[in-house]
Amino acid sequence: MSTALPPNSTIGIVGGGQLGRMSALAAARLGYRCHVLTPERDSPASLVSAGTTLGAYEDPATLRAFAGRVDVITFEFENISAEGLDLLASLRPVRPSPAVLRISQYRLAEKSFLNGIGVPTAPWAAVNSRAELDAAVARIGLPAVLKTARLGYDGRGQAVLRRPEEVAAAFDALLPRPLILEGFIDFACEISVVVARGADGAMAAFDTVENGHRDHILDITHAPARIPDQTAAAAQALARRVAEGLDLVGVLAVEMFITAEGRVLANEIAPRPHNSGHWTIDACPASQFEMHVRAVAGLPLPPAARHSDAVMKNLVGPAEMALWPAIVATPGLIPHHYGKTEARPGRKMGHVTRLFPRGGLPGAFGIAAALGPLAPADAA
Ligand code: AMP
Repeated sequence: MSTALPPNSTIGIVGGGQLGRMSALAAARLGYRCHVLTPERDSPASLVSAGTTLGAYEDPATLRAFAGRVDVITFEFENISAEGLDLLASLRPVRPSPAVLRISQYRLAEKSFLNGIGVPTAPWAAVNSRAELDAAVARIGLPAVLKTARLGYDGRGQAVLRRPEEVAAAFDALLPRPLILEGFIDFACEISVVVARGADGAMAAFDTVENGHRDHILDITHAPARIPDQTAAAAQALARRVAEGLDLVGVLAVEMFITAEGRVLANEIAPRPHNSGHWTIDACPASQFEMHVRAVAGLPLPPAARHSDAVMKNLVGPAEMALWPAIVATPGLIPHHYGKTEARPGRKMGHVTRLFPRGGLPGAFGIAAALGPLAPADAA
């Protein structure tokens, strides 16, 4: 598709979660309809889209029915089968391509790809057996992180190995194999960059942001990251290199570590809008979701400009959702609810953005005060 998708066309979104929901809201503003493929009735994306095909991602008849309802296809999560996406790609343009999904789904392919284009990562080794694990531990050393190579997210399917006696139990517990052993990075902070790339190769990268996790789930994002300009610029260049290397059409997040020595190492890539880019909805003229829709629809990409500094705080599980009435009653907090009815522990239910003038991101106490009912307990 070399020309732009005309208004009132339909964008198919594989996946019904909050990323699809926020993409659909951005698409609607540009005059597009969205049609969602999900097994879930009343999914967050379905609730704001023109239509839904309800069914299993693995079912060819469901995939064909979905493709028949849409003009172009994208995906909002990565745990669909690449073969399913191949089938869709034989019927409609799929952006990003199944080849990009394959790399991001498989940590071993991801690390090989990154190192192959000159992007540094933690040292790593593929692990298929106890003997391979012992050899990898001997080479990489402890501490190290053992992860499943497929289908892990939010810290599931991984174990930190600190002592030799922990190695055997971690190997037995982690399935499916293969696994990957990574050197443990004693990072100074975690950052990420969301970059958009159009079919014509034009790119727009949002500013480098800083991410704080709790229980392996993103808790808070500071935009911009409070790091030296040179480091932020290195992260931008790294993300652009990844997008180009993948021949990406869409948006991509690159999660990175900054080491104690100030080196930038890539950890993980996600070829879709990303939780660490939610702040762009409120702090940028064109959000990551609009960039995503524009790239998928073949529209030009505007600059990834930022008019404000921002802090984004996730609302995870029942405890934080219980604060919703207080959140909507607090001036300055910009609330985002994902339309999920059941607040299970660890489930992302919504987020809140707080804006500050450019260059005016306060320190920890100022941010805690500005978050009102969501102030972290340890900052009080
Ligand atoms: P991942 O599933 O790879 O995104 O990992 C989830 C989180 O675990 C990261 O955001 C880090 O906080 C931590 N982590 C992952 N890999 C490493 C590593 N090699 N060294 C130190 N921490 C890590």
